[in-house]
Amino acid sequence: MTIEPQQFASDNYAGACPEALEAMLAANAGSAVAYGDDGWTQRASDSFRTLFETDAEVFFVFNGTAANSLALASLCQSYHSVICSSAAHVETDECGAPEFFSNGSKLLLAPSADGKLTPEAIRTLASSRSDIHFPKPRVVTITQPTETGQVYSITEVRAISAVCRELGLKLHMDGARFAHACAALGCTPAAITWEAGVDVLCFGGTKNGLMIGEAVIFFDRALAEDFDYRCKQAGQLASKMRFLSAPWIWLIDSGAWLRNAEHGNACAERLAARVADLPAVQLLFPVQANSVFLVAPEAVLDELRALGWRFYTFIGGGARFMFAWDADPARVDQLAADIRAACEVPALA
Ligand SMILES: *Cc1c(COP(=O)(O)O)cnc(C)c1O
Repeated sequence: MTIEPQQFASDNYAGACPEALEAMLAANAGSAVAYGDDGWTQRASDSFRTLFETDAEVFFVFNGTAANSLALASLCQSYHSVICSSAAHVETDECGAPEFFSNGSKLLLAPSADGKLTPEAIRTLASSRSDIHFPKPRVVTITQPTETGQVYSITEVRAISAVCRELGLKLHMDGARFAHACAALGCTPAAITWEAGVDVLCFGGTKNGLMIGEAVIFFDRALAEDFDYRCKQAGQLASKMRFLSAPWIWLIDSGAWLRNAEHGNACAERLAARVADLPAVQLLFPVQANSVFLVAPEAVLDELRALGWRFYTFIGGGARFMFAWDADPARVDQLAADIRAACEVPALA
């Protein structure tokens, strides 16, 4: 296998950070009880409780689609509905898994340009119908940061949770990049979750530097009833659970969870700053977390592709660049230089 130059098409292109690998090796040092009844899993759950400063119930699953889908299913009956943004990962990128695992709970979409939900949009959707023919609104899910890299402030989350409480809705947070939001806000994990009214958080590990795995954190322990059975039935109960859980101990206790995210965010800012003066290139969204979405003439994008760069254009409508814990600043600068060069090809100059 040849090692290819680093790409920024997805934060999932990154490998696992040293802390995660160290934990894997430590957890591999001997045998341990299976199916999560081991000391590593206990310690990882305690690390989350310390980090979040509350006695939450914690579960470990393989990926984000399962985390979101099972968390939403646990908040819903099949005749309920889930309010989300039209750009939400649960709607656009989970292949109907939330509906599947909830046995049919319907997603109600709020149109949104930047991926954010607003209290007004929630109120409109939740009160559009109250008759028996329409699936009863039961949950709101927000993505922090959104799929377009927009970070909800504490005030915004509080305003959303206030509407949820008023209308009898539970609040779920898809935190596939939760650490990046904490890094951007400079607040405690508690402040932007349970203290702001979030009931359940899916905390992404994969995009934060783990090899694999996400945590589902129930701040309201009553909502976690039988969640272990739900995980098992969905094929999400790891028999050697310690390999999913132990990396979190190192990630959290060492502070790498936050450092990794700060680094990704800083690299996004770095790229944005280095292309800011190019008239042919615009930011599609403000850079608030670890992504940069660029709008540029198709010829510029083609030239970038010809220079070997990979990027997606099906999310948000622009060319997306994502920066993970391992983003090499020199490679970010190379990308910026290549964008600059692509803008100067004769046809465009
Ligand atoms: C990556 C991501 C997920 C999880 O995706 P999986 O591929 O299932 O792990 C969930 N939500 C958002 C917003 C994501 O970006």
